[in-house]
Amino acid sequence: MLTRDTGICIRTVDYSETSQVLTFFTRDHGKLAVIAKGSKRAKSAFGGPVEMFSCGPLMFAANQDRALATLTEFTIDTPCPNPARLSADLYVLHGCLLAVELLDHLTDEHDPHPDLYDAFVAFIADMCESAGAPGRREALALLILFELRLLMAVGLRPVLDRCVNCRTGIRDDACGYYFSSAANGLICRDCEGSFQDKVALSPQVGACLTKLGTIAQAAPRTLRDLEKVLIGHFTQLMHRAPRMAKYVLRHCPPS
Ligand SMILES: [Zn+2]
Repeated sequence: MLTRDTGICIRTVDYSETSQVLTFFTRDHGKLAVIAKGSKRAKSAFGGPVEMFSCGPLMFAANQDRALATLTEFTIDTPCPNPARLSADLYVLHGCLLAVELLDHLTDEHDPHPDLYDAFVAFIADMCESAGAPGRREALALLILFELRLLMAVGLRPVLDRCVNCRTGIRDDACGYYFSSAANGLICRDCEGSFQDKVALSPQVGACLTKLGTIAQAAPRTLRDLEKVLIGHFTQLMHRAPRMAKYVLRHCPPS
């Protein structure tokens, strides 16, 4: 049976001289691994090899006894994220690849998250737009906002409006707070002694986490410190550091 969906390519593996195995993040079927037979031929049904971040409507045939579905149609949307523009700005590309790594780890095949799909496609398009901009502040802010969106979409929303332990509301100055991955949220000064894994937050990072709307305008140094906290959190969730994390952290915007 042929099934229609729309998706964005998040992994490409050469399968043979002419075919690829592709992973799409689709709107209605979540992650989906497919074989694209003959895709590497210049005159293929897909217009040549499918590239990372290509996005558009697709059709696939599920195989009863095989894990891989067969891709039968895929049309790249216009306007669509432009992979060539991404690869011209290494920092932006690394940010997109980190987002893919986190998305891949935290979502399952055939587990749809339509809102997260829309957010991810918008994130890649915004990253393409920010490619080549001086400084990297905008790209890092986009990445941080997507990482928080991802946590919320997969049911791991961190507690950011009160101390997770004593439930006291966050003070306006957001001073003296800690983040604990084990507790999945903010911990106040009075409770921090009970949490081994906590990291101290600067007032600026505390303010970003309690008022997510301020992230887009935050200073480069604040964004860098916030991304370190989030990478630490994802490292705990994944039981290993995300592979792309060091590339993003090493080249964070100068403060
Ligand atoms: Zn507390």
